[in-house]
Amino acid sequence: MTNEDSGFGQLGVNPLSEQNADKTERREERYSLALRVANDGLWEWDLEKNEISYSAKWKSMIGFQDDEIGQSPNEWFERIHPEDHDRVEALINAYLDGTTSNFEIEYRINHFNETYRWMQAKGLAIRTSEGKATMFAGSQTDVTERKLSEEQLIHDALHDTLTGIPNRTLLLDRIRQSLVRRQRYPKTSFAVIFIDLDRFRLVNESLGHVHGDELLILIAQRLKENIPISDTVARLGGDEFSIFLQDIEDAKDALNIAETIQTTFSKPFLLGNREVFASASMGISHSDNNYKNPEEILRDSELAMYRAKRDGKAQNIIFEKKLRHSNLSPIDLDTDLRRALDRNEMELHYQPIISMRDRTISGFEALLRWRHRTRGAISPNEFIPLAEETGLIYELGQWVLMQACEQIAIWNQNKNEEEQLEISINLSSRQFSDPNLVEGIIGNIKESGFNAECLKLEITESALMQNAQRSVNMLNQLKNLNIKVCVDDFGTGYSSLSYLHTFPIDTLKIDRSFVHDMSRNYRNMEIIRTIIMLAHNLKLDVIAEGVETAEQYAQLSALGCQFAQGFYFARPVNKDDATLLIQQNQKW
Ligand code: C2E
Ligand code: MG
Ligand code: MG
Repeated sequence: MTNEDSGFGQLGVNPLSEQNADKTERREERYSLALRVANDGLWEWDLEKNEISYSAKWKSMIGFQDDEIGQSPNEWFERIHPEDHDRVEALINAYLDGTTSNFEIEYRINHFNETYRWMQAKGLAIRTSEGKATMFAGSQTDVTERKLSEEQLIHDALHDTLTGIPNRTLLLDRIRQSLVRRQRYPKTSFAVIFIDLDRFRLVNESLGHVHGDELLILIAQRLKENIPISDTVARLGGDEFSIFLQDIEDAKDALNIAETIQTTFSKPFLLGNREVFASASMGISHSDNNYKNPEEILRDSELAMYRAKRDGKAQNIIFEKKLRHSNLSPIDLDTDLRRALDRNEMELHYQPIISMRDRTISGFEALLRWRHRTRGAISPNEFIPLAEETGLIYELGQWVLMQACEQIAIWNQNKNEEEQLEISINLSSRQFSDPNLVEGIIGNIKESGFNAECLKLEITESALMQNAQRSVNMLNQLKNLNIKVCVDDFGTGYSSLSYLHTFPIDTLKIDRSFVHDMSRNYRNMEIIRTIIMLAHNLKLDVIAEGVETAEQYAQLSALGCQFAQGFYFARPVNKDDATLLIQQNQKW
């Protein structure tokens, strides 16, 4: 069926202007119209007779045979969802009396099978020269699938996938609404309970992730059962939940609720045929503290939760201002580390490496930064060993590799071969002994599409020496991929020189402890001189790290060191500042 056969040609569609469109364009336009019309129901409303002829397709879209629907407007309007009815009627009236110039609306209509379908109706009127509408006709398209998927998307964005309860975004949104209300009605008061399960990691590790997930679902249910329906239970991530309590006069009332929850936790949870006990530490903060934004009240409840953990778990603590200044114990650092990636708390910084030959940037070392939301910056020296211990280093390492590879691909996009920048990435000893390391690297190279020759992996001398034979195998695999290897913190790891020349490596990086006082300490100066000579004999490059002064730079240059890195040139900076450094193209 084309628009012309349908009889609605001049109404439902915009006819092409004959002068402008050439024939092919017209044919294509008609074809797409025909397709659209075939899927649309059509209606033509004779306003003088007040009769509507509905096309057979229009009727079948709501489950009726051609002869089952007459010509009355009621056939249509009585089937419209009560919540949408007035809206549709108002738009029709506004369009017909000329208040609006466009008729297009989405609404629900009752199908023969007693479900509602979402429809999109569009129409055009024919008017007399005075502007009075005499005919009104248009199309109707079933948009139920799209509507449902839109609703699903909105739902998914605001709910936790595992437990189906609200997520952090929805929780914060509800708190925000109450803060707004409190500005208008200062008597409005509410509280937030921050809940963190105790020893949840043990459940995960001893019973497996599937049971761990099941336990989280059961806990979400139990929390919901024990608070009023108007309050919100949300999952913040991992084993953290939060409850937003409305109309709570003071923090003590919230404490009572927290105690009830502790009591309900004393009953076991059934996982398969096993009974598991869970306990939680809870922190409470109340709107009396005059919060400006929802994140603040949540953060304070979290601080109180940390205190509860420290006080011996399964405790409930009300937030007090002095907690803001207390040092929290590191016991939960590993739990937080697990979530740091999901919470976007990790960031890669880049420190330039300067080529002494032309005194410009030859590449960057990627250095990981963790901004913990309550503790601020945590040094990689503190969290990398923890990540090693818990095995999280693999995930973290993959993330670093991906970010750094993507970044270097962007920086090198418009550079010719000699100008390509190198990126150095640190590997911890556990990463270096990971049999999947090479595979992961290949995956990242393929995905970010950059040149493997630009990648350099930094491995500390001690990690390399831990298992020399395995190291040689690993290094050979990397060499086959044209990936470079740098021995980091060189000079501190007692490497056996007899091994060094058997390792297929490219660069030695002199540990910054030698550079630090090379001007004053004759011995250190001699060590640096020896390392540089050794490197030259083995045809390796040398980088000096921790260069902080012009004097050190000059001395290193005189000793024949080829590359330098340190605060004298630049501190590690974020990717935007690193991009600026590249653009400035400074000579040091
Ligand atoms: P590293 O690989 O020896 O990195 C150099 C460290 O020296 C960095 O510390 C850097 O900020 C610091 N530094 C740079 N220039 C100077 C200077 O002129 N003076 C002084 N005093 N320090 C300077 P940062 O970023 O705290 O990293 C510490 C260590 O953490 C790194 O030592 C590296 O072993 C490890 N690390 C950092 N990022 C990663 C990562 O993504 N993966 C792994 N596995 N380890 C990482
Ligand atoms: Mg390094
Ligand atoms: Mg180093």
